[in-house]
Amino acid sequence: MVRKGLLIILSGPSGVGKGTVRKELMKDPSLNLFYSVSMTTRPIRPGEVNGREYYFVSREEFEKNLEEGNLLEHAEFVGNCYGTPKDKVEKMREEGKNVLLEIEVSGTMKVLEQCPDALSIFLMPPSIKELEDRIRGRKTESEEAIAERLEKARSELTMSHLYAHVVLNDSVERAAAEIASIIKNAAK
Ligand code: 5GP
Repeated sequence: MVRKGLLIILSGPSGVGKGTVRKELMKDPSLNLFYSVSMTTRPIRPGEVNGREYYFVSREEFEKNLEEGNLLEHAEFVGNCYGTPKDKVEKMREEGKNVLLEIEVSGTMKVLEQCPDALSIFLMPPSIKELEDRIRGRKTESEEAIAERLEKARSELTMSHLYAHVVLNDSVERAAAEIASIIKNAAK
């Protein structure tokens, strides 16, 4: 029988570099990861591909999925909806894959209520200043959205103690290596 895979939550404020660290982790086949692509109503950014970064859907479609019970969790984040499709998470775990969710803090709390054995990891920015520089550097958000994301980040940082692991993103390679060792330990 295949051993059920882990449910891993990679969280932390917008701009901390979750996506970059995740991509680094995905390069390591020994971690046996499956990345769960979320659904969102936020507009697609240049360079993003539907079905790769997110499933980009209308609000109607998002609400339909919600009503039909297709989402493991969902959250509203700075005016847009985000949610984790349920179907693949269970299926891939049953097949022995370690499923990685990249989600914000309130969604993490909802997943932990349902799956207390999920491995929760909070990626911590070296400073708020660095976070701001990264969000600005993306050049994808308006001044208003940047301010909202920073405000949200400040409140999310106060929740880091609710996670099993807090990892400082001082360097992508170092943070990814620390997370890889957390995953390997949990999978033992
Ligand atoms: P962004 O718009 O920058 O791609 O994402 C905004 C925030 O939503 C990020 O913190 C991201 O991790 C989070 N997020 C992405 N997908 C999901 C999801 O399915 N559920 C929840 N709760 N948050 C998500």
